[in-house]
Amino acid sequence: MEIAPNIHWLDAGGSNVYLVVEPPNIVLIDTGMPRKQQAILGLLSQLGHQPHDLSHILVTHADMDHVGSLAALHQATGAKIWVGADSATLIDRGKSPKHMPAVVQWIIDTFMKYGAVPQGQLSVFNDGDTLPFLGGLQVIATPGHTLDHFSFYSPATGVLFVGDAMNTRDGRIQLTPPRITADKTAARHSAIRLLEHAPTVIACGHGTPSSTHTAEELMQLVNRLRQE
Ligand SMILES: [Zn+2]
Repeated sequence: MEIAPNIHWLDAGGSNVYLVVEPPNIVLIDTGMPRKQQAILGLLSQLGHQPHDLSHILVTHADMDHVGSLAALHQATGAKIWVGADSATLIDRGKSPKHMPAVVQWIIDTFMKYGAVPQGQLSVFNDGDTLPFLGGLQVIATPGHTLDHFSFYSPATGVLFVGDAMNTRDGRIQLTPPRITADKTAARHSAIRLLEHAPTVIACGHGTPSSTHTAEELMQLVNRLRQE
């Protein structure tokens, strides 16, 4: 579904991915769980493009439901991958960041690996960088849910890609549940920093992207987060 001009949303089975179609650049933001590459390439094909037309993949954080199909898509498309430095270290080993309750974290660390991509094939962005998409896509460090987490904001379109910094799981904009948040204070500060941009579209990693909220609703959420 097109959520803004040239920005397509795909629910890849529980986690969202986004395609920004600005030929010659076609940019994928996050890659879903493992084995979602066919669904993602299917969307690309529906839009009239071949796998090798995918030029870039941006990663919000190295949780398996966001980087699960990264290696397969990289292989199928040759797209350039851009990630944060801490995500790069994890993706190089097929590891997830630590932010789950202890037993769950142990299961993830022990049994749940995704396809790794060698660090040499990962380009690293930093907080404050501007990437050449959507009229200038700002890279914003948003630690909290995980410590390697980044979001991306396009002032020209008002679209904010938040990964798991926020979601709309219960039909409202909220933070990721505390029990799966690595640093709750950082998560609050990151959300405030994002909401202060007053985005018109919040393209989240889970739940339907939000585009019907008002600036006032976002400010109310900011005020609530400031008081917590
Ligand atoms: Zn996550």
